[in-house]
Amino acid sequence: MTTRLPKDLTLEEVGDDHIPGSLETPLRPDAFEMDDDLKIELIKKHFKEIMQIMGLDLTDDSLKGTPERVAKMYVKEVFSGLNPKNKPKVRLFENKYNYTQMLVEKDITLYSYCEHHFVPIIGKAHVAYFSGNNKVIGLSKLNRIVQYFAKRPQVQERLTEQIAQELKEALKTDDVAVVIDAAHLCVSSRGIKDTTSSTVTSHYSGKFLQEKYKNEFLKYLG
Ligand SMILES: [Zn+2]
Repeated sequence: MTTRLPKDLTLEEVGDDHIPGSLETPLRPDAFEMDDDLKIELIKKHFKEIMQIMGLDLTDDSLKGTPERVAKMYVKEVFSGLNPKNKPKVRLFENKYNYTQMLVEKDITLYSYCEHHFVPIIGKAHVAYFSGNNKVIGLSKLNRIVQYFAKRPQVQERLTEQIAQELKEALKTDDVAVVIDAAHLCVSSRGIKDTTSSTVTSHYSGKFLQEKYKNEFLKYLG
């Protein structure tokens, strides 16, 4: 697909670079006309073909189940965040303790996939907010929101923004911060083979634009 490339660039010119896209995951309007079972069936068929083209013997006991395993994993697990029906339902609770300080949920395990190479992005997400309208969220929902957006083919910048956007909507406040620190297997295991680098992205809004709150948040991350 060349449609998402900046207008004047061809795929050859972009080469191995990761190019930024828009905030929305580029989905087609008919993305969910097929149900999950049909998607699994079709992906299985096509993945089998890829393996066959690579010369693998699909009658081998160890390989023959792979196309189906990959298809199920794509649709039901690692890319399940593409489907809005899997979006976590968020309920807010009365802030009974009148807790008005920053709340930080740190070291949220993050597994995503680079949309340019379809290999894993592995890291940690850290999110923080100040409760708006005296409402709080169940803590595990913060993890679920992170994981929902991670389970898509992603670029880290977009993932960061999507999580921040959703936190603002769910928590009804602009006072949110998101930091993601992740290693991209497309960088560490291939291409330039840098095994130690990680990529850090962040989003600060509302109160977190003030140095003192941003610094407090970063201090908790250590
Ligand atoms: Zn990549």
